[in-house]
Amino acid sequence: MLLDIYVYPHPILLKKAEPVTVFDESLARLVEDMAETMYAGLGVGLAAPQIGRSIRLFIVDTSTPEEPARLKAYVNPKIILKDKPVIWNEGCLSLPGLYRDVSTYAHVIIEAQDVHGEVFREEAHELQAVALLHEYRHLDGGVFIDRLPPLKRRMAQKFWSKHVHREAERVYGDLNIHCVFSDSEDKKK
Ligand SMILES: [Zn+2]
Repeated sequence: MLLDIYVYPHPILLKKAEPVTVFDESLARLVEDMAETMYAGLGVGLAAPQIGRSIRLFIVDTSTPEEPARLKAYVNPKIILKDKPVIWNEGCLSLPGLYRDVSTYAHVIIEAQDVHGEVFREEAHELQAVALLHEYRHLDGGVFIDRLPPLKRRMAQKFWSKHVHREAERVYGDLNIHCVFSDSEDKKK
């Protein structure tokens, strides 16, 4: 099932997510739905707050279309190590169409639980490391434009607040993905 994508600066994207405590069928189903949504949106990662659930869960699949899928879910993740600082051109399904060069790390060791609650460790490099950190930061209310230098960050935010609806419409219009905006939430009240 395709899930709605919450678009920046929706408040759910700006707050710290809660740990997952129950590893049941509904968690496995949520991961399946998140994967369907991520692939439909042509993303390489998706964090639960981006689909409106403030829990510590994200998925990543950085395989190319020619490779077999490498989908993995990370529940209650911890970053054990990050090094090799690097500048990377990042984008985000919650800021569709916006790409900026930001500082991050190209070597990561992460520890997390899978959907059954089993703990695993993964060492990642390059795009996989960048994607893991990008998604991890969503669980603490971070988005990639936070990592721009102050002036560039202000410019990106200004651009975004002006064009958020137009950009989301442009990117998601033909993909059957429904977006939740912070102002449409306000209108419901
Ligand atoms: Zn993102």
